[in-house]
Amino acid sequence: MAGSTGTVGVLALQGDFREHLAVLSGLGASARPVRRAEELAQVSGLVIPGGESTVMDKLARTFGLAEPLKAAIASGLPVYGTCAGLIMLADRIANPIDGQQTLGGFDVTVRRNAFGSQTESFEVDLDVPEIGSPAVHAAFIRAPVIEQFGAAVAPLASLADGRVVAARQGNLLGTSFHPEMTGEQRFHELFLRIVAAA
Ligand code: GLN
Repeated sequence: MAGSTGTVGVLALQGDFREHLAVLSGLGASARPVRRAEELAQVSGLVIPGGESTVMDKLARTFGLAEPLKAAIASGLPVYGTCAGLIMLADRIANPIDGQQTLGGFDVTVRRNAFGSQTESFEVDLDVPEIGSPAVHAAFIRAPVIEQFGAAVAPLASLADGRVVAARQGNLLGTSFHPEMTGEQRFHELFLRIVAAA
């Protein structure tokens, strides 16, 4: 796959960006951390990792990355957000902290920490038709869910109770869970196909 995708960036302000870099490199992609606007300008796709969206938001604004990121998303840069990364991509947060902003672009409303403090983390097998079999073994860690989504959004996976935990809107891909932590590579493969086609 290397070559057709150019260099894919992983936003490296905070969170588990190293794991994403390892998955992408393992798939043969050229991958680099992105911390500055000049680095963002050099990538043909971007992964926003899991971590803490409130902190990532503050760091992105402090380091002058928020506006370049919004512009890149608006101009069609393929972006894959996992967990906090999905929150960063969401147009709306049902329960933001005071002053919390997102980059937006993804016409979804997410609820942060949707499983409450009793269920900090859990793992479950998910049927994801877009990914195929076997089922996706998904790890949820203080995870958000997608509560509402617009017509341009295709839900890709839901929990047994119907709550959406993976979706795609054009060049944007988002998962509530962390494929990079369970040896699941197929979402990154899908993302690299989106990058190659963009
Ligand atoms: N709860 C975190 C947030 O609101 C996300 C957790 C994660 O990325 N694993 O950003």
